Amino acid sequence: MIESDKAQSSKQIPFVDYLVLGDEPYLVANECKQCQARYFDRRNACAHCFGEEFKQVRVATKGVVTSFTIVEMGPMPYISAVVDCEGTPVRCTLVGVDPTPEKVHLGMGVELTTYSMGADSEGTEAIAFGFTPTQ
Ligand SMILES: [Zn+2]
Repeated sequence: MIESDKAQSSKQIPFVDYLVLGDEPYLVANECKQCQARYFDRRNACAHCFGEEFKQVRVATKGVVTSFTIVEMGPMPYISAVVDCEGTPVRCTLVGVDPTPEKVHLGMGVELTTYSMGADSEGTEAIAFGFTPTQ
């Protein structure tokens, strides 16, 4: 017989595997050992230099918006952006800011934040990340 473990009923899992949860969540990238190109997806070889060795690096949690698009699809418009985190471009959604051209601008300072995408029937909560304007 398998006993259900109550401690697991509030389990949190990251929505993407390069998000590390904890008191201070952060993103990890795979960095090419030869040319330092960074990737968030798993690669067998570097797209820049064809290097095959990678190491995991912690990405800065603060950055600036280098491009953005206001996506008006579905019930709620949202902002899809690329944030430069000290040299690592991160594709993300901006949260905590109105999706209007007046409220978002290039060079805006933002920081990593996480939010719940809801829990499944077993109580496991999926946690996604976004970037929100720094105060
Ligand atoms: Zn490389």
